[in-house]
Amino acid sequence: MDELKKKIQNFDQKTLLKCLKARGWEQTELFRLSRQVKEKVFGQRIWYRGIIEFSNLCRNNCFYCGLRIGNKKVYRYKMSLPEIAAAMDFIRRANYGSVVFQSGEIRGQRWEKYLLAIVRLTKKKYPGLAITVSCGEQDRGFYKRLRQAGADRYLLRIETSSQKLYEKLHPKLMSWSRRYQCLKWLKELGYQVGTGVMVGLPGQTPADLIGDLRFFKDSQFHMFGLGPYVIHKDTPLAAVNARKQWREDKAKIYHLTLNFLALLRIIRPTANIAAATALDVFNPSGRIMALQVAANVIMPSVTPRKYREHYVLYQNKPCLDEEAKQCLGCLTAKIKSAGLESGLGEAGTSPLYLKMARK
Ligand code: SF4
Repeated sequence: MDELKKKIQNFDQKTLLKCLKARGWEQTELFRLSRQVKEKVFGQRIWYRGIIEFSNLCRNNCFYCGLRIGNKKVYRYKMSLPEIAAAMDFIRRANYGSVVFQSGEIRGQRWEKYLLAIVRLTKKKYPGLAITVSCGEQDRGFYKRLRQAGADRYLLRIETSSQKLYEKLHPKLMSWSRRYQCLKWLKELGYQVGTGVMVGLPGQTPADLIGDLRFFKDSQFHMFGLGPYVIHKDTPLAAVNARKQWREDKAKIYHLTLNFLALLRIIRPTANIAAATALDVFNPSGRIMALQVAANVIMPSVTPRKYREHYVLYQNKPCLDEEAKQCLGCLTAKIKSAGLESGLGEAGTSPLYLKMARK
């Protein structure tokens, strides 16, 4: 075990390639090691973040995403402040220690005012609650104002560390360098910064995934939110042949994601890693499996039921017909029956962030 850990942490290419493909006893060994590393830092504790998908408006046209501006079939919404306050009341009653405000990417003064009002309202009413924002690329000044208003954390997925692959997945107007620049600003401003990639993308190679792991390590992110690529029929990446191919590759993508998560945990023992909801598309216990193997964070949806069906980044998204209370009950029961502990009420700051802040 120690030998394997050393090889993974030293980025031994042959070992990493083997681990990405691992199945059977090799996968069991990898998971055992990853679990051991995770438990040394977090024990059995699982931290909760209540996620409110407060708007599905987006200015971008990412080729894989159901919310892209080019998808005219989507009913667009933006929750009002009283609706957000009601969702926040649930978060408090349910004893979540942390909230995530997520939307598509919108810029401009009106949007800025609206987002600042959400963060200020939350900070004023619930001062102890850790606030995460996930609203895409913005300018440095706005990130600063959000931080001053009370935002503690920011999630911005890089989607892939390969610039070449990034260009294939996004229109020309979007750039990998700009996204990376945003991540750098967020770190400079003192946020806990989270990022992530999609695993199993068309055209992605094992070398790309190893590149992602190295990027995660070198750039010292505090949190990770990553998951498998799930196709959405109303996107350019879902041409007829691609849909067939994705269905054929489903099992491979699921295992590849779990193996990638295990490697990430071994490489970044003290970072927070979320179990992606998208894993449940492949297996109803996908998220729980990720929590058993490598992840220590779960993000139950607190989005009002009437909006859930309109916030569909990928197809077959689970829990669309559930209320926030059902999501919490269902996940907590699964967590307990898997022998894990509920960390409800805790803000769950990334130990890696705390360590870096002390330096
Ligand atoms: S991935 Fe994000 S930025 Fe891209 S289209 Fe979807 S919501 Fe918009």
